[in-house]
Amino acid sequence: MALDEYRRKRDFTRSPEPKGKDEKARRPAKQPTRFFCVQKHLASHLHYDFRLEHNGVLLSWAVPKGPSLDPKTKRLAMKVEDHPFDYGEFEGVIPEGYGAGIVMLWDRGTWTPEVDDVDAALKKGDLKLTLNGYKLKGSWVLVRTGGRYAGARGGGDRTWLLIKHRDDWAGDVDIAEFAPLSVKTGGDFEDILAEDTPAVWTSHRPAKGGDAGAMLAQIIARAAQLKATRGARTEDTKGTEDTKEKKEKKASTAATRKSAATPRRKTQTSRKPQKKR
Ligand code: MN
Repeated sequence: MALDEYRRKRDFTRSPEPKGKDEKARRPAKQPTRFFCVQKHLASHLHYDFRLEHNGVLLSWAVPKGPSLDPKTKRLAMKVEDHPFDYGEFEGVIPEGYGAGIVMLWDRGTWTPEVDDVDAALKKGDLKLTLNGYKLKGSWVLVRTGGRYAGARGGGDRTWLLIKHRDDWAGDVDIAEFAPLSVKTGGDFEDILAEDTPAVWTSHRPAKGGDAGAMLAQIIARAAQLKATRGARTEDTKGTEDTKEKKEKKASTAATRKSAATPRRKTQTSRKPQKKR
């Protein structure tokens, strides 16, 4: 039931996204730690999909600006449909249809509720939680605004804020800017695109008109632009000690201070489907 909306929006003959297992594949609801991830999604607009495992699915919020480590910065988080547990490891290109664009696994780890009853907290619209990811750690809260942004898509009911609590892992570093790459492969959008440029994006472009065609063209252009920007930055720092990767690693470590885990460095990406955890 929980995945009905997820499945209704997608054509799995055309999308590489997982269809997801049914409820019988659920993991125990009362386990002490649960999976969480943040997927950076370059679609019609860049956003960060924040997902928390609960009752065998991934509760999901779309965060347009991404999480902030600064407790003073409240980030708009639009509640979206539950996603299958298997979606948590997904990284790749959605060639067309709903969510068309590029999905990067930006962070992953475990989360622990700071409340006894997650369902009650969700109903109340105030879920306090602890994250233990590579980039995001410590105490956070998701709080429903009660229609403060009623004009937003989906209405006020779906409008939440994602806020960092003040603790050792809070800071004024822009984590999205300083740690922009995939936690899975170390790559950027263009690397993911280069792995899997969908035939439909080239064969139908630029002949394919309309909004979708324009959107796909824009995404490809933006990916190319990202690549060019990165190339330029590499040029700037040539001959100096700090490559962008090193800078990112430093900044990420500084931001999370006690972080012991470091995202894997860039390696050959694997096209193999991820094993179910
Ligand atoms: Mn998304």
